[in-house]
Amino acid sequence: PVILAIESSCDETSASVCADGNILSNIIANQTIHEAYGGVVPELASRVHQQNIVPAVQQALLNAKVNKNDIDAVAFTRGPGLLGSLLVGVSFAKAFALAKNIPLIEVNHMQAHVLAHFIGDHQPAFPFLCLTVSGGHTQIVLVNDYFDMEIVGQTLDDAAGEAMDKTSKILGLPYPGGPLIDKHARSGNPDAYKFPEPQIPGFDFSFSGLKTSILYFIRDNVAANPNFIEENINDICASVEKRIATILLNKLRKAAEQYGITDVALAGGVSANTGLRQGLQQLGEKLGWRTFIPKMEYCTDNAAMIAIAGYHKYLKGEFIGQEIAPLARMPF
Ligand code: ATP
Ligand code: MG
Ligand code: FE
Repeated sequence: PVILAIESSCDETSASVCADGNILSNIIANQTIHEAYGGVVPELASRVHQQNIVPAVQQALLNAKVNKNDIDAVAFTRGPGLLGSLLVGVSFAKAFALAKNIPLIEVNHMQAHVLAHFIGDHQPAFPFLCLTVSGGHTQIVLVNDYFDMEIVGQTLDDAAGEAMDKTSKILGLPYPGGPLIDKHARSGNPDAYKFPEPQIPGFDFSFSGLKTSILYFIRDNVAANPNFIEENINDICASVEKRIATILLNKLRKAAEQYGITDVALAGGVSANTGLRQGLQQLGEKLGWRTFIPKMEYCTDNAAMIAIAGYHKYLKGEFIGQEIAPLARMPF
């Protein structure tokens, strides 16, 4: 089947076309308007989605060399995400399916981040563990099958991406700060400063204490030396990145040992982070894991992951009707 997929859960408007599980195009329109506000403004995000959705779909069809009449089904992100943003993608998908008289497929955005691993040839085998780290989520997911997933650990407060973005804000860097922390960290010493590792039982995470300790650390040092941030930005970013990566990887290791699993994957926007990618690779080599890290364009929000999830639902014949509405919160 040829599937058109739409993603609009946050601030990326994305459209993708896939044929029999092969991604033919993946158009991602980023919204830059939020930079001025230091975070995503939901109402603005929704309006920009409305402007971008039709051109994004047109470009996705063009790049895939597929005619709109040859689409067999439309997959879309139903949730979780910003309701106003989701509504644009859901409405477009419903209208397209109605106009072409083809089936609709709803996709859970967090499941799709995990299923991005089924794009291409290097695919994990069930059951595997996936550390999904994004702007809004931090989860260790036990993946038994395409749509049989169990969250075995998650954050009790902030997400890892939020910790990155809030740290960058403290350092006076623009939003979103994750990629900038990564950039500075490449020229810094990760052992320059020690930040605390929270002691949370089981496989759960907490990042709010880390955020506070970074805030106080910067405040105290800037009080002593107003140029502290400028002079040490690379070392600060490298040290913060290392701590966030070790918090994540220590829990992932515990979970892999507990469940006896050796196929271990990374997903979500923060899996673009160089330190985390290298850390997982090194840990995998040491422990004999097979590790899986998506290509960069499939880490942050994209419709290709919605397309691949949609393809596997299509094979199972899992379609939904026109009454479907988006969900801001959406469990697996
Ligand atoms: P969710 O998937 O939970 O709904 P989201 O879709 O907004 O949230 P993603 O787009 O998957 O999240 O990821 C965005 C997050 O990834 C941001 O917090 C951003 O700072 C972070 N990020 C992106 N690239 C990097 C990087 N290289 N290093 C660290 N963090 C990064
Ligand atoms: Mg985003
Ligand atoms: Fe996401």
